[in-house]
Amino acid sequence: MSNWRNFTFEQTEAIFQELPQLGGGTDAVACPSCGQKTVHWYSFLNPWRSMSCIYYIWCSACRHYYGQTLAISEWNLTDPLKRLSKEERVVLESDPDRFFHTLDKLWLSGELPQSEA
Ligand SMILES: [Zn+2]
Repeated sequence: MSNWRNFTFEQTEAIFQELPQLGGGTDAVACPSCGQKTVHWYSFLNPWRSMSCIYYIWCSACRHYYGQTLAISEWNLTDPLKRLSKEERVVLESDPDRFFHTLDKLWLSGELPQSEA
């Protein structure tokens, strides 16, 4: 059982105003839901569509998240989950507990946030 919930539209808007440019800042940002500085982010090249990336933000403390697909004109970021096949990504993302736990570990180990490749 997962208790992950989506950020509201207003919370998502507030977070995106604080987020650094992709590949830029490295400090987690404040969560508009619980107030802790525990909102993290991860993005990867969309394996199903060209010139597009998939972008997640999540709060490790209160377990809210948001994911979206963004059009991009270029991509130059590292991806610590690059080794995953499309199928492995689908399996991992379908289990929010496992997915965000994996991302939290990558953040702790310094592989996230991503830097320019
Ligand atoms: Zn929170």
